[in-house]
Amino acid sequence: TVPRRVAIVGTGVIGCGWAVRALAAGAEVVAYDTDIETARRRLADTIDIAWPSMEKRGLAARADRQNWRVTDDLDDAVAHADLVQENVPEQLELKQEVLSNIDGATPPDTLIGSSTSGIKPTDLAAGCGHAPERIFVAHPFNPVYLLPLVELVGGDATTPETLDAAQAVYRGLGMRPLVVRREIEGHIADRLMEALWREALHLVNDGVATTEEIDAAVVYGAGLRWSLMGTFLTFHLAGGEQGMRHMLEQFGPALKLPWTKLEAPELTNTLIERVVAGCEHQAAGRSIAELEHRRDAFLTDLL
Ligand code: NAD
Repeated sequence: TVPRRVAIVGTGVIGCGWAVRALAAGAEVVAYDTDIETARRRLADTIDIAWPSMEKRGLAARADRQNWRVTDDLDDAVAHADLVQENVPEQLELKQEVLSNIDGATPPDTLIGSSTSGIKPTDLAAGCGHAPERIFVAHPFNPVYLLPLVELVGGDATTPETLDAAQAVYRGLGMRPLVVRREIEGHIADRLMEALWREALHLVNDGVATTEEIDAAVVYGAGLRWSLMGTFLTFHLAGGEQGMRHMLEQFGPALKLPWTKLEAPELTNTLIERVVAGCEHQAAGRSIAELEHRRDAFLTDLL
């Protein structure tokens, strides 16, 4: 089901990504942000950057890239939308307030998804007294216009019908919905990414490796496999003819060893400066826009 109109609330990196995805699917986009001038510029820039990839993938064939507008009136943005996608900064109280306003300004059958990376839907909907049953988490991945995964998570009030309707709508936007069975902070994918991120920061902090060396360890090895097979099927193959059973017999006991106890470094100023300098060295003078272009071209070929 392609939604007729999608309201985007908060137009940072993620909100703009959703806007392109919705436009390319043929929906009309109405965006609301507290900083309307920046919103207008960012949206236009993101559409410029993203549209060639969307066309190359044949996703934008029947779409009108001009079919969007920005408003400084939240009610105007959400009132006639089929789907409202909330993408304001990751702060619980702010999201609760914004979602409560969206809830109050929309009829009960409007779907309301939050892009939150970590907050549980029950906590998000705590201030929603109108129709909390249609509020859920719809967590995407950057760049939203290319990566298909969207994690859908219902809270205490969310009905199964809402999650069914949400799956149909995100499929209509060309995505691969993954319904998370139980709400948990960080959902599924960010739990995994946080584990890797924590260890990567720890290795930089302890001077074991530079940011560039750690990225190389991902990019030339496991990262290539991960685009086809996840951790489990990868390890199933690593176990040889007996697959995962042999893998667990061989490496399972290692879970008790000290090297499997991962570290969580403190985010000191020294670590921050080291990580930032490392990334600037890796960027080698290329702007974020140039790096995004390179990423998008690569992802487009891969997809
Ligand atoms: P961002 O800081 O780039 O953008 C936030 C936007 O919200 C800004 O444009 C800001 O002006 C606007 N805003 C602030 N207060 C507002 C309000 N009251 N009403 C409307 N707009 C308001 O943030 P982001 O990285 O796009 O993240 C947004 C959400 O998406 C977060 O919940 C984050 O966890 C989630 N998310 C981020 C990523 C990522 O890779 N950046 C990935 C998946 C999900």
